Amino acid sequence: MKIAVCPGSFDPVTYGHIDIISRAANLFDRVYVVVLPNQRKKSCFTVEERLEMLREVLAHLDNVVCEQHEGLVVEYAQSRGAIAIVRGLRAVSDFEFEFKMASMNHHLDPEIETVFMMTSNEYSFISSSAVKEIASFGGDVSKWISPSVAERLKERIGTRKGLNP
Ligand code: ADP
Repeated sequence: MKIAVCPGSFDPVTYGHIDIISRAANLFDRVYVVVLPNQRKKSCFTVEERLEMLREVLAHLDNVVCEQHEGLVVEYAQSRGAIAIVRGLRAVSDFEFEFKMASMNHHLDPEIETVFMMTSNEYSFISSSAVKEIASFGGDVSKWISPSVAERLKERIGTRKGLNP
């Protein structure tokens, strides 16, 4: 069985993430989507909330399992028997960071490949941060996140003054 891991912050999950995960689910027998608490970014939702949203929007994909992990992605991938880490690439600006991560992960375990997927054109400019920023100004984000996620984001923004995405 060919297993892949799609790691990320998913704060919150967007149609850009769903696109990459669905395409990975077509290529691999099983895909583990793993939520990692990202120390580089201030989060809007807890890890548990992010997981709940992921499970909701990915419920139609039977070979996708959503989990959380604190620690190295490579360790998580090893524990699940994964052969690949799948990451999405939006723009050249993603490349430098992704290149470093992939190289480090390769050093940690050379048997686990990092696979990059190009974003679909319509999602190339979407990020969780942009969605949060637009939503915090009352903008329409319905093209980029599911209705249930949009509802939660609206509630969260309503309760938190001056959201800092
Ligand atoms: P991280 O903080 O680890 O970058 P994200 O939740 O921002 O986590 O992203 C998780 C993965 O999804 C990354 O590989 C990222 O490049 C990819 N991704 C995010 N948004 C998009 C998008 N609009 N199109 C394609 N890939 C995306």
